[in-house]
Amino acid sequence: MDFSFSEQEEAFRAEVRAFLAEANPNAELPGQSGDEEEGGDIERAMNRLPKLMAWNQALYERGWVGFSWPEEVGGGGGGLVEQMILKEEVGKARAPMLGLSYMGLAWVGPGIIRYGSEEQKKRFIPPILKAEEHWCTGYSEPGSGSDLASLQCKAVRDGDEYIVDGQKTWTSLAQWAQWMILLVRTDSEAPKHKGITCLLVPMDSPGLEVRPIKTMNGETPFAEVFFDGVRVPVSQRLGAEGQGWEVTKHALANERSSIAEVTALVQDLEDLIELARRRRRGGRLAIEDPEIRRRLAYMQSTIEAMRLSGLRFLTKQLRGEPVGAETSINKLLRAQLGIETGRLANDILGSYGQLRRGSSGAVAGGRWARQMLSWPSYVIGGGTPNIQKNVIAERILGLPHDV
Ligand SMILES: Cc1cc2nc3c(=O)[nH]c(=O)nc-3n(C[C@H](O)[C@H](O)[C@H](O)COP(=O)(O)OP(=O)(O)OC[C@H]3O[C@@H](n4cnc5c(N)ncnc54)[C@H](O)[C@@H]3O)c2cc1C
Repeated sequence: MDFSFSEQEEAFRAEVRAFLAEANPNAELPGQSGDEEEGGDIERAMNRLPKLMAWNQALYERGWVGFSWPEEVGGGGGGLVEQMILKEEVGKARAPMLGLSYMGLAWVGPGIIRYGSEEQKKRFIPPILKAEEHWCTGYSEPGSGSDLASLQCKAVRDGDEYIVDGQKTWTSLAQWAQWMILLVRTDSEAPKHKGITCLLVPMDSPGLEVRPIKTMNGETPFAEVFFDGVRVPVSQRLGAEGQGWEVTKHALANERSSIAEVTALVQDLEDLIELARRRRRGGRLAIEDPEIRRRLAYMQSTIEAMRLSGLRFLTKQLRGEPVGAETSINKLLRAQLGIETGRLANDILGSYGQLRRGSSGAVAGGRWARQMLSWPSYVIGGGTPNIQKNVIAERILGLPHDV
């Protein structure tokens, strides 16, 4: 494998570094750990919104939001290697992400580019790039999560519209999104994977109700969504009727690969090492404790393995091959490290690690306590570890389905 970059790619890296040194809004925002900011993660993100919108605009004007999307839809038309360099440098500089419309950029946009009509591309792609519209994902239902294809929320055709009835649950960011990418059953007679259709639905549709769900860390990152006779124009169907499962497989592979990026993990690891250098544990600095050192080293080597796996996926993409089941490897490792990060921080900090924002003695605005309480749910989002292991066993290792 050749790990070297071309002259042109190195020049691009230098351009990105120069831009970040000048424009990175985190350089002047309060610390990311947010000791001095009030509220939960989502509220703090909302407080930062005006500055982040300006950041998004600056990146958009350079063609760096939707960097590798085709120019004809408004993307940057850039190459995948440069895109990786861009993400790497943004991560190293601890600058905010490349674009604010998270789900729009990670899987809705790619889905529309691949399966959408020309009108849909014109209508939906620019507001995703400019962060003017945000999306949520209506797949899971109370009885359909891992076995998503068993979903029951149904849509019946009525002239130029579908009428949707049913319920979705665990819909992340539903309270803040303007649009939902929704999976519905349009044919209950067909085999379960074939009777599913994908619709693009405005969240202010009459008959659509959002009820936020509170988690154990006190935040409301997701919601239940109810549909009672919601009318959706046929022109807002993504792909053909009955093609919803194919559209979703494409989206889920994108979701798992975006969930698995290592940038945030590298930052967590740097912060943990810094923490271990400052805090004492059992009469010595935590960094001098062999058990803590072993766990830090395990994290570092796992992140490196994930980074190399990421390069393997990139090579496949450069060859024009689809990335599918392999993304489950990094999704699984990401989940394990997310849990380990919170536990390790708490073992370094002892009981101080349990203190939440606002408590006297809370470390980094209660960041590590939040990590401990949030990760158990993040592990499930995008598919549970058991399901990732099934995918790896069957589709990568070729093991039999039933043993
Ligand atoms: C933080 C978070 C964000 C989310 N965001 C969204 C979102 O935006 N949109 C959305 O549609 N959904 C979202 N979800 C839902 C998520 O996709 C589902 O929770 C997940 O797919 C699991 O489904 P379930 O909850 O129905 O559990 P179940 O499928 O009922 O699973 C229960 C248990 O059984 C195990 N299990 C099930 N089937 C098998 C099998 N075949 N082999 C081995 N073990 C199995 C599972 O691993 C799990 O341990 C989110 C969930 C979380 C926690």
